[in-house]
Amino acid sequence: MNKIDDYAMATEIIEEVHRARKKFPSAEGSMCALTEEVGELAKATLDESPQRIRREAIQVAAMAVRVATEGDPSLDAIRCSHGVMPFSEWHDETPA
Ligand SMILES: [Mg+2]
Repeated sequence: MNKIDDYAMATEIIEEVHRARKKFPSAEGSMCALTEEVGELAKATLDESPQRIRREAIQVAAMAVRVATEGDPSLDAIRCSHGVMPFSEWHDETPA
């Protein structure tokens, strides 16, 4: 894989993020969705074509971007019990 392929894949990840936000606007449950996608990628690596592996990897990366940028408000109660800022208050801060 060369640098051009890396940039093409990064573009596909961004497009997948936009597609996912349009289809599922809420960030609720995004951590579970990421975990589900990781499982699909693992299965693809065992049983499926390179194209399917690439597709699943893009979906994993897109969900990781969503978790990093939107959080998962369904985990707010747990985050509060751990003494950290709930995701629902992230709109006032840029995650570092
Ligand atoms: Mg998938």
